Amino acid sequence: NVRLSSKVQSLKPSSTVGVAAKALELQRAGVHVISMAAGEPDFDTPPHVKEAAHRAIREGKTKYTQVQGIPELREVIAEKFRRENDLSYTPDQVIVSTGGKQALFNAFLALLDPGDEVIIPAPYWVSYPEMVSFAGGVPVAVDTRPEDGYDVDPEAIGAAITPRTKAIVLNSPSNPTGAVYPEAILRAVADLAVRHGLVIVTDEMYEHIVYDAAHVSIARFAPEHTLTVNGASKAYAMTGWRIGFAGGPSNLVKAMNAIQGQSTSNPSTISQYAALEAIRDSRAFIEEARGKFRERRDRIVVGLNGLGLATPLPQGAFYVMADTSRLASDELEAARLLLDEARVAVVPGTDFRAPGRVRLSYATSLENIEDALSRIGKLMGVGV
Ligand code: PLP
Repeated sequence: NVRLSSKVQSLKPSSTVGVAAKALELQRAGVHVISMAAGEPDFDTPPHVKEAAHRAIREGKTKYTQVQGIPELREVIAEKFRRENDLSYTPDQVIVSTGGKQALFNAFLALLDPGDEVIIPAPYWVSYPEMVSFAGGVPVAVDTRPEDGYDVDPEAIGAAITPRTKAIVLNSPSNPTGAVYPEAILRAVADLAVRHGLVIVTDEMYEHIVYDAAHVSIARFAPEHTLTVNGASKAYAMTGWRIGFAGGPSNLVKAMNAIQGQSTSNPSTISQYAALEAIRDSRAFIEEARGKFRERRDRIVVGLNGLGLATPLPQGAFYVMADTSRLASDELEAARLLLDEARVAVVPGTDFRAPGRVRLSYATSLENIEDALSRIGKLMGVGV
């Protein structure tokens, strides 16, 4: 064994990936597992997007591009920010990265000095605290409650601010809670950032997957203090293409570009041309996906509550958080039972900081959802 850095030794492997690996192992052994652990749409990438990639290859667009992303794509993204989010970023204030993950990673590396604190509402996407720590920062969780629809409380955020606070992470619509923060909350958090000179890192990856609520970009209320992160993965069923992007203050985007230039350089050229088409014109695809997700959400929420696993109705994204106290003493045991006995793969809330709950993704067919509900019903000794 070689000697590894202390930095990497404290890095937690993704628990989502861990569950997926165990489910795959069972599947390989011939067991029919229903996976509700995945964080990706089950739809295929739209045909016009695939065609754009084929075209790029045919036309020889297969070499390095500008580190920051091709100008045409950054223009389309700036136009998307204007049209859909009411934000005015110039193409120079936009960077394209290898997934939203790299955009976020770049951002924390660019922002944080050792010991800088970053406020993260919990339950949270597991990568935020890990990325913050890896970049030398200190994640500070601020808990939210299911009875409030997991809305973040600006007062609680205010109370968590210290002289070491550098940034606040927001993720609306949220993975894992499905919360979509209303405008009043966003305005209050923006005020805090302006007043205390903080940076808001807002992850709006699920912006198009909203149901009864409207998605609002917080950068509208604090443009000089906000980095808006988004990407092609969830909106256009393009997880494997690895395209994320961000818009924000020029000096921050420049710093992110410098980091990217010394690590990966440009994201895949072919994927950039595909994303350009996706972002320019995918209204119909987005509408259709949203309709399907809504139907599935309604079914799974009614089903789980009917089985005694209390589950709030999420306003966005494609996850639900089920209370498993009727099933097991803690969420790890519940996730184990669900996988081993019911053959349904879910993610325990432990790493999301959601004790007593598991996350189920409904980015799977209605048939799978029905099947999963009846398996869970059997496990609990009740009908659906
Ligand atoms: N942000 C959130 C909240 C996510 O759930 C994910 C994916 O699971 C990402 C960012 C990263 O997505 P990608 O790197 O595929 O763009």
